[in-house]
Amino acid sequence: MSPGVSPGVSPRVSPIAQQRYWPLALLAPLAVTAVNLVPALTSVAPARRLLLPGLAGMSDSDAVALTYDDGPDPASTPAFLDLLDRHDTRATFFLLGAHVTDNAALVREMADRGHELAIHGWDHQCLALKRPGRIRGELARAAEAVEAATGRSPGYYRPPYGVLTAEGAYAARSAGLQTVLWSTWGRDWSRRATPDSVVRKVERVLAPGGTVLLHDTDRTSATGSWRTTLAASEVLLTSWRARGIRAIPLRDHGIGVGRRTPEPIVWTTQDN
Ligand SMILES: [Zn+2]
Repeated sequence: MSPGVSPGVSPRVSPIAQQRYWPLALLAPLAVTAVNLVPALTSVAPARRLLLPGLAGMSDSDAVALTYDDGPDPASTPAFLDLLDRHDTRATFFLLGAHVTDNAALVREMADRGHELAIHGWDHQCLALKRPGRIRGELARAAEAVEAATGRSPGYYRPPYGVLTAEGAYAARSAGLQTVLWSTWGRDWSRRATPDSVVRKVERVLAPGGTVLLHDTDRTSATGSWRTTLAASEVLLTSWRARGIRAIPLRDHGIGVGRRTPEPIVWTTQDN
């Protein structure tokens, strides 16, 4: 906070000057509040789609970007690779760096099978709970682990829970990563999720140019939930193909190239 907006204004400042400062003094707490609200804003999908379309993964593409979070997981990820192969589809996988080195062969296979690898963080801790100064090193370390396994640098970052802090945004930029969250998800991590509920949840707000979030592991979700996601993915891919909707990785989505107007989107205040 600058001296000019401090509640304790210098006595040498004239009363007239003080009058000029008072709106700033009023705005300062609001600005601080706004900064603190940013992580909450980014984590709420309807607000994100409306106010931050690029961050929500929305582009002018006619396709939908298909993304999976929380892997790699040798217990479940291979099943998704086989499913995507059967549908001749490539997706983006947001990986946790802590699991990349131990599963380097799987990570290499994911890249070799044409999928895009991105960074979900070193671990799954919410950025808002991390000790200041940690994120930059963790993102760089995770990106290095992916690069060591595949020989390719990741291009995208998605913080756990969609909570993006100012430090996280800066750290991502420093690591050469573009932050992309999602415009629709299937709540596939829930214990109550079924393939049908995941499909309905995704389809309810999905529009061309959107980005879909699912999970290829139950590492941070209800036990066995990846099987629900796998079944839902099969239904979604089959349905999209029948309707002429292409599912693509983020690298082909053209985020930041254009800006889709919100009219075609069916907004809902309940979805996140
Ligand atoms: Zn996650």
